[in-house]
Amino acid sequence: MVAALSIVAALGLLVALGIAPPAAASLITSRADLGARVDADLRITPTRFTPGQALVIDVTGTLTTTAKRDVVCHSLVLGALRGTSPLATRYASTDRRVQQSGERHTQQITAALDIDRADVPASGAISITVDLQCSPVRPGRLMSVLDAVTQRIASGRLLPAAGSVSLSTTHLFPDDDERAVRPVTVSATASRGPITVVVMRAGTTVWRATSSKAAYRAAIPLARTQRAGTYTVKVTAGGSTTRQNFRVSRGWAPLVDSVASWPRCSTITWTYNAQGAPGGGDTGLVSDLRVVFDRFAALTGLRFRQESSSTADIQIGWGPAPFDGPDASGGAAERDGVLGSGILTMYADSAWARTPGFGVRGRGALLYHEIGHILGLGHVSDERLLMYPIHTVGQSPLTPQPGDIAGLRELYAPSSCR
Ligand SMILES: [Zn+2]
Repeated sequence: MVAALSIVAALGLLVALGIAPPAAASLITSRADLGARVDADLRITPTRFTPGQALVIDVTGTLTTTAKRDVVCHSLVLGALRGTSPLATRYASTDRRVQQSGERHTQQITAALDIDRADVPASGAISITVDLQCSPVRPGRLMSVLDAVTQRIASGRLLPAAGSVSLSTTHLFPDDDERAVRPVTVSATASRGPITVVVMRAGTTVWRATSSKAAYRAAIPLARTQRAGTYTVKVTAGGSTTRQNFRVSRGWAPLVDSVASWPRCSTITWTYNAQGAPGGGDTGLVSDLRVVFDRFAALTGLRFRQESSSTADIQIGWGPAPFDGPDASGGAAERDGVLGSGILTMYADSAWARTPGFGVRGRGALLYHEIGHILGLGHVSDERLLMYPIHTVGQSPLTPQPGDIAGLRELYAPSSCR
């Protein structure tokens, strides 16, 4: 009788706190007690999800358990619910340390819960629960998971993202000569419309559009993205905002479709091979090359070292022109955004390539242009720049110009080298 009375008292207390009483059975067994005091500092990320996209929820942080009796806290149960219906459940192991009564144990938690794309709701929130399961242990006995006691140690709520935004490119080169300059296209989706897209640069709105629908796609007019700098695209739907940036670079374009450079602040070796040089055509060439490499070293933070080796990073020599017209060619191999294996070939029948020095008719501008390619610069449509593909004697620049220099700075961040 005494035991029955105390159960009634416990139920009354729970009701008074406004918590629905659990089944009486769970109160009268010792299983309701986890057997350890728990101090969990867990982070649930992300805090938003995108309808129609698969979702991975990460639970990370520290878990400290202080044993009230001999116990092992062996499992985490990660759950995702939409309302009361479960979307996904995942069991994850802890480090399964057996703790003796009074012992305190801290461990790092990293666990993940995947929700299939088909199970991610189109609207509404997702509730996340993190439960810890512990079991009593007795000396000499195997742990019995069936006896596990479960306690909620963390929970979270994921809201649908305002919208997802994707951009057709994250780096725009309005002066590019060799590839069609296409505007940045914004694709935005949300769980429902309207969607507002705002494009900003340096705190000023440069373009804005609104759609009543839940999906929107449009090109940002090139005229609105002419200035160099970082632009932010903000997509607002349902009271919250998603952002993505893109960059506009003026005065230069990349050598290859993706922006690529030699390793920043590195030392690059070069060698000159006189084989095939036209008679007297290479007089003074090595000293011209040194002038050019010194200037590029100052502009990029790279170091250039001359070698007499066929394994040097940049091979310089002579060859026949592939067709009538060009005076030299320069380029490099690209792999995963990193350049290597530079080649500069001067064409033996080019009078320009044979004329030493940095005067109006000297090959200095030719060497600057081709080594500009080797360092990652492509052709531009602005004839005032070194990387314009056609050289007009008496008009074209003879050395790197502001746009060319801006490109080298963006590629190499020379101020980070010492
Ligand atoms: Zn060129």
